[in-house]
Amino acid sequence: MKHNFGAGPCILPQEVFKEAAEAVLDFNGLSILEVSHRHKDFVAVMDEAMDLVKKALNVPSGYSIVYLQGGATLGFTIAALNMMRETKKAGYINTGTWASGAIKEAKKVGVDVNVFASSEDKNFTYIPKNYTIPSGVDYIHFTSNNTIYGTQFKSFPKTDLPLVCDMSSDIFSKEINVADFDLIYAGAQKNLGPAGATLYIVKDEILGKSTSPFLPTYLDLKQHVEKESMYNTPPVFSVYVAMLNLRNLIANGGVKAMEDRNNAKATLLYNEIDSNPLFKGAVETEDRSNMNVTFLLTDESRAAEFDAMWKGAGIVGLPGHRSVGGYRASMYNALPLESVQVLVDVMKEFARKG
Ligand SMILES: *Cc1c(COP(=O)(O)O)cnc(C)c1O
Repeated sequence: MKHNFGAGPCILPQEVFKEAAEAVLDFNGLSILEVSHRHKDFVAVMDEAMDLVKKALNVPSGYSIVYLQGGATLGFTIAALNMMRETKKAGYINTGTWASGAIKEAKKVGVDVNVFASSEDKNFTYIPKNYTIPSGVDYIHFTSNNTIYGTQFKSFPKTDLPLVCDMSSDIFSKEINVADFDLIYAGAQKNLGPAGATLYIVKDEILGKSTSPFLPTYLDLKQHVEKESMYNTPPVFSVYVAMLNLRNLIANGGVKAMEDRNNAKATLLYNEIDSNPLFKGAVETEDRSNMNVTFLLTDESRAAEFDAMWKGAGIVGLPGHRSVGGYRASMYNALPLESVQVLVDVMKEFARKG
């Protein structure tokens, strides 16, 4: 049994893997991989996968759920195209690689981007706080959890402007107030399901109001809401497994219970990082992510020794992102507390050996 701290595609509950495997062989007599997406059996899956998102996050009325392909990366473009209004201006917060990607793609489709807050000066090791939200822009965009650096917004920007968020790596990990947002998007493979599906939570009011001269049908959220995510072939298997995972989440106490478990996991690991002299955190303490815990050795020359120890304990996926180095323990919903304990025990043993 491995302990998977990988950043994504990531661990899902073992029961979900099992049920998904069963459906590959037998989903009402066919394989889930060969069933028509228009068949009533799959339409029921899609309906449930949408309903369970609403249930898990207490999505208020006036919002729709959409499952698309293209990852959060296409979400950067979809967000910009669908939120563009008269001014064609938008305010973005730059907290690292994914936020920068969203900025780049918004510019490509003609948004005049105002980066009004950024943590680039310190290599994205903190969440900007004392910023002024610009007025006279169409929308504000930010990235709630910075998967690569290990920083996370603990409170969201307060604004009356339409608020858009890339929540790829912390959606369903804690309670949120969906009513604060006009658009939320998230690649499935960090907390929701296997790679292939991208989730959109859309305020219906925003639909059909884009001022972009270029809006391909596939990138128009209005189309997908009207067609209930069946405008074209949806990522059938990914949606099916996401549905199983959401059932599992709700059966295990829902997002609130998950938040408590995630807090316990994060506390356990951060306490070890802070008390063990051989380790140090990689980012500002108050902005630490509960999902992606980044840390460094105080003595880099001992990396090979530490690497051999955690690998020997069955841990996988611990090296930091290639752009930042160090270590990153991604602790998505399905990662058990026991796996975190295994890592902490390895860190303690490493210190004991001195
Ligand atoms: C992983 C990730 C992305 C990229 O997602 P893809 O599904 O690979 O396009 C974007 N934003 C955040 C916050 C991520 O963690």
